[in-house]
Amino acid sequence: MKITLLGTGDSVGTPKIGCNCRTCREALGGGRTRRTRFSIMLEYSGRVVLVDTSPDLRWQLIRNGVSHVDAVIWTHSHYDHYAGFGDFYRVQNNVDVYGEKKTLDYILHYLHFMSYVRHDVELLKPFRIGEVNFTLFPVTHYCIGTPCGIIVEWNGKKLVISGDTNKKIPDESLKLIKNPDVFIVDAIVPPEYKVKKHMNAEEAMELSKEIGAKKTILTHLSHLYLPHDEASEIYPLGYDQMVIEL
Ligand SMILES: [Zn+2]
Ligand SMILES: [Zn+2]
Ligand SMILES: [Zn+2]
Repeated sequence: MKITLLGTGDSVGTPKIGCNCRTCREALGGGRTRRTRFSIMLEYSGRVVLVDTSPDLRWQLIRNGVSHVDAVIWTHSHYDHYAGFGDFYRVQNNVDVYGEKKTLDYILHYLHFMSYVRHDVELLKPFRIGEVNFTLFPVTHYCIGTPCGIIVEWNGKKLVISGDTNKKIPDESLKLIKNPDVFIVDAIVPPEYKVKKHMNAEEAMELSKEIGAKKTILTHLSHLYLPHDEASEIYPLGYDQMVIEL
């Protein structure tokens, strides 16, 4: 399986509109400091599955040469995770979409002009797309519907995507996400900041240790980090178009 981080930014992206901080100034010039909003692409057996559809999805797909998407799984109902699905308008019809019921109700109301094939997913119950098992697990964030992370399993390998969450992940979820080969985790700010809806880098690294992740990649990153090359000397930060093979 090939995992591509299409977008590693927080909801405003880097650079942030109107911001003149050092990170945003550097990001204007491009490079790894520039971060589009959150999506992840999984490719296996000729399939393309997206986890979330960033408002920046159009350019993310074009620059990665993606012409067709087989399925979309939504983690939760925040704008930065679903709005780009509208870019399939007049491009691709009837994409299979997966998510928890209230999340789908909310997102598909917004995207009423689109055509899609809806799949309501029960939390903590695996479902298959091709030969790969996916499980949505509840996390702790604040939005309409139940915010979720995703476990992806195939061939004895395990990828866990935390979704947007703070560190107080329910016990039933914690049990399931143990010992992933790769853990892609929300770490919106560096450790000197604390936010209620997300983890900072220190909390994300603690969680990674607690669940015994073999490889950790921080994502959903804000402009409050130092420019990428400096910040990534301290933390394992992801960057747009980073590829992980499993
Ligand atoms: Zn988000
Ligand atoms: Zn800034
Ligand atoms: Zn969110």
